[in-house]
Amino acid sequence: MIPNLDWLADAACAGMDTRAFFSTGRHARAQVNAARRVCAACPVRVQCGQWAIQTGEKWGVWGGMSQRQLRQRRRRFTSRAKTDFREAA
Ligand code: SF4
Repeated sequence: MIPNLDWLADAACAGMDTRAFFSTGRHARAQVNAARRVCAACPVRVQCGQWAIQTGEKWGVWGGMSQRQLRQRRRRFTSRAKTDFREAA
């Protein structure tokens, strides 16, 4: 199935240098905070975050979430999906 990525057209980061969302080095925290400020005003923040969680994105800021927040949400999502699967079986 081809994923629907139409929401990307409305992204606040459209046209920005994507490196701003993939921080490294000494200024990583400041970079993450700057990226999250862009995300805060993004109309497709929810879709972006869902995409990152569902596709297992491990790096960068997605949906206003840091890598750490993404990992936490992914764990919850995976655990809930397993529970739903068990209950449906
Ligand atoms: S939430 Fe952030 S990373 Fe996602 S599309 Fe919007 S601005 Fe870009």
